[in-house]
Amino acid sequence: MSSAAPERCDAVVIGAGPAGLAAGIRLAQQGLSTVVLERHYLWGGLNSFYKKGGRRYDVGLHALTNHADRGARKLPLPRVLRQLRIPLEALQLGEQLGSRTVFPEASLRFSNDLDLLRSEVRAGFPAAADAFDALCDELAALPHAVEAGPQSVRAHLLERLGDRLLVDLVLHPLLWYGSPTPSDVSWPLFVVLWKSIYEEGFARPRGGVRPVLELLNGRLREEGGELRLRTGVSEILHDGGRVRGVRTDGGAELEAQLVLSSAGWPETLRMLGPEFTDHARSAPIGELTFVEACMHLDRPAPELGFQDTITFWNHADEALYRSTGAEPYDARSGVLCCPENYAGQEPETEGVVRTTILSSAAPWRDLEPEAYAATKAAAVDAAWEEVRRFAPDARPHAVALDAFTPRTITRFTGRLDGAVYGCPQKVAPDAAGLTGLQILGTDNGYLGIVGALVGGAQVATLSGASITPRALEPAPEA
Ligand SMILES: Cc1cc2nc3c(=O)[nH]c(=O)nc-3n(C[C@H](O)[C@H](O)[C@H](O)COP(=O)(O)OP(=O)(O)OC[C@H]3O[C@@H](n4cnc5c(N)ncnc54)[C@H](O)[C@@H]3O)c2cc1C
Repeated sequence: MSSAAPERCDAVVIGAGPAGLAAGIRLAQQGLSTVVLERHYLWGGLNSFYKKGGRRYDVGLHALTNHADRGARKLPLPRVLRQLRIPLEALQLGEQLGSRTVFPEASLRFSNDLDLLRSEVRAGFPAAADAFDALCDELAALPHAVEAGPQSVRAHLLERLGDRLLVDLVLHPLLWYGSPTPSDVSWPLFVVLWKSIYEEGFARPRGGVRPVLELLNGRLREEGGELRLRTGVSEILHDGGRVRGVRTDGGAELEAQLVLSSAGWPETLRMLGPEFTDHARSAPIGELTFVEACMHLDRPAPELGFQDTITFWNHADEALYRSTGAEPYDARSGVLCCPENYAGQEPETEGVVRTTILSSAAPWRDLEPEAYAATKAAAVDAAWEEVRRFAPDARPHAVALDAFTPRTITRFTGRLDGAVYGCPQKVAPDAAGLTGLQILGTDNGYLGIVGALVGGAQVATLSGASITPRALEPAPEA
């Protein structure tokens, strides 16, 4: 443990994913001395990037949700970028060409124009078309943030649309892109998912996630905030119901009036020490996690016949979206992404396709290296055996492949059990009940990269306004 006098700042942010970076920028904009601490050697969190064998890989980016044009000032993406002082044009967004949900009995196409989905429903499910139109109109009139609604979205949709297959098809992409609970989703999250995916839609920043993360890091620096990589937080320090700072993995103390944690709700509780042990044990850990593979191809994917931007498939008898329990993976349900199938993408010499399938953390946990590698390879093959039922088989054209599992997710982000969408019970920022401690990001119930940016900025704006800045300086000797 370090014996040096603790360093002081106004605000510490734990984690440099999108929520932590947005929060850091907003705090620094308020004149607060702000330090963002990230355990990993790269920033970006669940949506980071790396290089392997000379090739660039994005960790998670399939698509940015909440696409919006510059004129749509009130929508979440332009609004949060304005707050962060990043011009929308800087992201160089290309809209999706079109996506699809594929079940054995039927499929539905959708794009960033909800009318395509409406017309697909009218053609494939004429008896339910009027009810579906009424649902679209009703959802269009709602704000993104709604407090409460029907207990089960699945049951509610079934009652309104009267067709189980249609409900499954409509829900499948929404569950896959944001539900921390199996098979169903809470009404508030459903509304966010519907708006983010079906009403606003998918886009891709030119160059993938890296330029976006560089913009965020650059803005943090320009506002006077600091990002410290390879600096994990082992403990959140508090006295008498008030936060007083953090202790890092290296044992150094950093004093702060405000600590904002984007590490996750159960993960944050574990940093609060013995008083919170029971609370930490009872906080549920999300079970939804995936095996994802990124395959580089010897030619652009569209040349091989990949036409959709994103395809959500389900080949099981029932729509499948859940943890795989004792099995390491289940490829009957998954997502195929083609990053080239967005408008305005640069021509590539190598194509890229990504497959994502259902998984579970436990079976991977103790696998020896050889068995781990073999299971991972089997998971990738299983995914492609399913993909070839509705798209070309890219494997003969593979020039490089990298895959990650729930174990990788936990290792690089600290998310317990690799829970991509976090805790199943979403919490308010002040849920820990300690003055000065705020929870950010996924576990506030926000969706994906844009949601994390919005949530991080919002919580930081409110909590930053509640404290008075003081200079970043060593504490006086006691
Ligand atoms: C495979 C995959 C695909 C995805 N695809 C998309 C997509 O296409 N579009 C989309 O919008 N979203 C996607 N997501 C989801 C998106 O990545 C997350 O919603 C988003 O990153 C959440 O942001 P966050 O800041 O809340 O948390 P995180 O991104 O998890 O960031 C938290 C950060 O905190 C750090 N941290 C944790 N504990 C500590 C500690 N004790 N000390 C210091 N640092 C710590 C972690 O290392 C991490 O960097 C995907 C995720 C995955 C895994």
